[in-house]
Amino acid sequence: EVVTRFAPSPTGYLHIGGARTALFNWLYARGRGGKFLLRIEDTDRERSTPEATAAILAGMEWLGLDHDGEVVSQFDRADRHRAVALDLLETGRAYKCFATQDEIQAFRDAAKAEGRSTLYQSPWRDADPATHPDAPYVVRLKAPREGATVIRDEVQGDVTIRNDQLDDLVLLRSDGNPVYMLAVVVDDHDMGVTHVIRGDDHLNNAARQMAIIEAMGWPVPVYAHIPLIHGPDGKKLSKRHGALGVEEYRDMGYPASGMRNYLARLGWSHGDDEVFTDAQAKDWFDLTGIGKSPARLDFKKLENVCGQHIAMTDDAALLHELSDFLNASGQTALPPAKAALVGQAMPVLKERAKTYPELLEKAHFCLTDRPLDIEDKAAKALTDEARQMLTDLTPQLQTATWERHDLEVLLNSFAEQRGLKFGQMAGPLRAALAGRAATPSVFDMMLVLGREETILRLDDAGV
Ligand code: GLU
Repeated sequence: EVVTRFAPSPTGYLHIGGARTALFNWLYARGRGGKFLLRIEDTDRERSTPEATAAILAGMEWLGLDHDGEVVSQFDRADRHRAVALDLLETGRAYKCFATQDEIQAFRDAAKAEGRSTLYQSPWRDADPATHPDAPYVVRLKAPREGATVIRDEVQGDVTIRNDQLDDLVLLRSDGNPVYMLAVVVDDHDMGVTHVIRGDDHLNNAARQMAIIEAMGWPVPVYAHIPLIHGPDGKKLSKRHGALGVEEYRDMGYPASGMRNYLARLGWSHGDDEVFTDAQAKDWFDLTGIGKSPARLDFKKLENVCGQHIAMTDDAALLHELSDFLNASGQTALPPAKAALVGQAMPVLKERAKTYPELLEKAHFCLTDRPLDIEDKAAKALTDEARQMLTDLTPQLQTATWERHDLEVLLNSFAEQRGLKFGQMAGPLRAALAGRAATPSVFDMMLVLGREETILRLDDAGV
């Protein structure tokens, strides 16, 4: 069984890069009937906060990245990490090192002066325990000095690190606390993680983690270290590139499904497919499709993908998403009658809207009440002549068949009789029906509003 995990450090919001890592792990597991686990790496007590954990959980929930089982707190497992280190110590795969900071520094200075490697080599590695002083010590792994460690990475290929370039990793600090590197290995093992998919900033850690894994005789997970995300300019991602926290995208009203699609394409590809459903993504996602070079953020592409997701979401689901968005952003909910109108208008609204606020903007004619507030730009279209035209039109609408084709014929011939082009009528009609200059088509609005409301609005705007 495939088991993946997302292991964020709770030091801030859910970063877009972290969200992508989580998504890759989620897709990999979900596409294979496996498990996707969540572990909060809160061993750094200074930097970890409960607010950050909450923000990460909220971000994942918004993105729909549901995890299996309980959320694991790494800090809570410190006793277990310590026990593993003590087990290694007892069986001679780790040793107590009594070297002081000064001694270590002296070793390095001497090595440097003699042009040797400055990696610390502890004299305690092979010392007879009978010679151990009664002094503070750290527990170090007895790492192999010969040969090489090969990380068989699914993205980076085989990465070989000579063992003489790795020192004897500290497992327990002198206060008895386990180090982060040990915690990751023990947690991954105990959680049954089979695939470690994470940022390539952890590639160097993998060699050190493998030394612990091998000392324990545990199976090495499959590694996939994914290149980090860069800004549109190809530089390391930073605040000046724009929004970095996923909650900012939520607040801007991007649909989560579009965000998932966009993030999936950030560093992973499946042929030329740009827009896809979750089912397709789960089906298609694999490690071979992950690129070796950093993906660049592309906000135009994000908007485009989100627009297509809005267009392909069914109307009822979209209405739900819209009300979730209003709710999450602290805006008032749509009253039922208005929600019903918006629902009816949805096929029209969802064309070319990239965010929920854009949908709402297009839905303005459904949300506004009589007498309409008419924005200045629209009011300009309501000349005396135009208002007379609206007044003359209403009797004809009383008896019209309320269908698109018939309304088109009626309005076009009405325009023709008055020597107007239809375009010249559209401005006043938009102003009367929506109070705006930019609206969905006049016919779409009339059909959604219905005969009665249409006539009332034209009467309001007429002479
Ligand atoms: N906690 C690490 C981070 O936030 C991830 C460690 C891992 O995935 O092994 O970058």
